[in-house]
Amino acid sequence: MSFQKEKKKIQGLDRIDKTLIKSDFSLSESKTKREKEIQRLKELEESKRALINILEDVEEARKRAEEEKNKTQAIIFNFVDGLLFFDNTEILRIFNPQAEIYFEVKAREVLNKERSILKRFPKLKLLLNFLEKNPGRIFRKELQIEEHLILEISVLPISGFKEKQIGSLLILHDITREKAIERMKTEFVSIAAHQLRTPLSAIKWTLRMVLDGDLGKVSKEQIDFLEKTYQSNERTIRLINDLLNVTRIEEGRYIYKPVFSVQFEKICQEVIDSLEEEKKKKKIKFGFLLPSEKLPLIKVDVEKIKLALQNLIGNAFKYTALGGRVTISLKKGINEIECEIKDTGVGIPKNEQHRIFSKFFRGSNIIRMETEGTGLGLFIAKNIIEAHGGKIWFESEPDEGTTFYFTLPVGKDIAKSSKKV
Ligand code: ADP
Repeated sequence: MSFQKEKKKIQGLDRIDKTLIKSDFSLSESKTKREKEIQRLKELEESKRALINILEDVEEARKRAEEEKNKTQAIIFNFVDGLLFFDNTEILRIFNPQAEIYFEVKAREVLNKERSILKRFPKLKLLLNFLEKNPGRIFRKELQIEEHLILEISVLPISGFKEKQIGSLLILHDITREKAIERMKTEFVSIAAHQLRTPLSAIKWTLRMVLDGDLGKVSKEQIDFLEKTYQSNERTIRLINDLLNVTRIEEGRYIYKPVFSVQFEKICQEVIDSLEEEKKKKKIKFGFLLPSEKLPLIKVDVEKIKLALQNLIGNAFKYTALGGRVTISLKKGINEIECEIKDTGVGIPKNEQHRIFSKFFRGSNIIRMETEGTGLGLFIAKNIIEAHGGKIWFESEPDEGTTFYFTLPVGKDIAKSSKKV
């Protein structure tokens, strides 16, 4: 019995053992589960924190973008120049307060409107017509809006993402004051030059009479002195005449006389003859090349074209060293005559070539040579040629020489008055 009892007891213990092992196993299983759960919660917590951080960053970026936008708007708002922005569909998107002043219209009346509606405002219409005549990029072009408002207009295409154009920005700068000062300066020069011309002419004729012996005998020494004075007076008269021409060009009063059809070769020859003395003095090897066929007649203001030629050919002689070569060639192009004045002179320094047709420009190389001049000849020549509907340009290599070219149209009536360049 005791054996049987013992066996049962052992079996009972075995069962308890197994149950214990089982519950131990399920306990460790639920522990792992719990640990996993805690881990997931932790991860969730971290994701939440990361998400909050991202949201904070986004909010920060939004605030910064807002601030930037406000700054840009403040700049546009307070900009001293007028600013307008048209998007690609030609709708007006920016119209700052300065533009409101220029065009006497409120931004709310014109913003987000298309051009046809904007044209209902007379001053804006002027601007839009100007833009239609000058499409694309514009750099500092003048537009008179009214008697006391002259604007300088620049148009810039604006690119956005991937260089794609998103519209055009217009910058309008008020230059009324500068223009008034410029006009006053021109008027002052004009009055001063006119006032000087009369006494200079009187000096010229008195000196001429003395030099010619009309007022009694003069010694050789006196003649030398008087001749020098006469030449200085002549130079001053030339300067005064140049100044008067420039002021007339600037005021748009450089009126061209009724024109005649002329043989251009003849005008050239007359100018060449008038410069004979300079040519001889400089011992210039000279060539005047004409096409085999006679050139067609052209309609020009003879005196003005002669003046342009005198300036160009005179320069070629003046800026070419003793014994150098000057060649003038005439050619017939399609509907135009081309004139080429080539010299083997000092040339124009490369970094100064862009200023060559500006008023009072004189090259640094020739200032060192101390030749006489005013820096007005080419300005005048360019205006004359362009007022005749022609073009003028040049090529120059320092120390090798310069070639000036100009064209004059055949069979065209010339402009009535000059345009300032
Ligand atoms: P000016 O001869 O009275 O100085 P211009 O307007 O005729 O004035 O010429 C302006 C400047 O251009 C000259 O001072 C000179 O520096 C340069 N220039 C013009 N023509 C020539 C030329 N043929 N060769 C070299 N330089 C020239």
